[in-house]
Amino acid sequence: MNPWFAKAIILVSSIVMVIIRAPHGHRSRGIKVVKSRKGSLEIVLLTVAWLGFFLPLVWIATPVIAFADYPLRPVPFVGGILCLALGLWLFHKSHADLGTNWSITLEVRESHRLVTEGIYRQVRHPMYLALLLYASGQALALPNWLAGPSYLAAFGLLFALRVGPEERMMREEFGQDYEAYMARTKRLVPGLW
Ligand code: SAH
Repeated sequence: MNPWFAKAIILVSSIVMVIIRAPHGHRSRGIKVVKSRKGSLEIVLLTVAWLGFFLPLVWIATPVIAFADYPLRPVPFVGGILCLALGLWLFHKSHADLGTNWSITLEVRESHRLVTEGIYRQVRHPMYLALLLYASGQALALPNWLAGPSYLAAFGLLFALRVGPEERMMREEFGQDYEAYMARTKRLVPGLW
């Protein structure tokens, strides 16, 4: 298959992701942060995640990593598109349900409310699940050994190192309410884990 199909899909899905996030990012900047856990590890993880998100755009726009290209095949390509679509839908849904309680990093904002309804009734980290699905979609649909899995590796690392501290912060902030929420929900996959 012509790699331009993959370039078009990756470009469109990256733009959709930015469009979904933009109003939430804009709104959250106006709400005061009352507690921040943005240490140096968080800064490193966020930077690595941005680089992982950016590399596919480099692949689309320039030939610098074309040496790592491989042929595009229909089955992984279609599987990748399905993961990207599901990931973007879940990304939109979790942003909508989390509302003004969202932050790019580990923070508690003024009037922070513990969200346990909507998609947050199913799992505790639907936005991370969305980004892992999206990143898996990219790994499948983008036929380059570097740019394909770059976001999956970068975001996978962020998820692995952040989810524990995030739950600790939420427990400190919301006490028994968060513990009860933890007792009745899974982290990432409903009914499994
Ligand atoms: N881990 C969640 C949220 C990601 S955004 C998810 O994957 O959907 C990260 C911020 O969301 C954290 O800094 C925390 O302040 C906030 N947060 C996480 N879970 C929350 C919840 N259930 N209710 C309210 N805020 C939450």
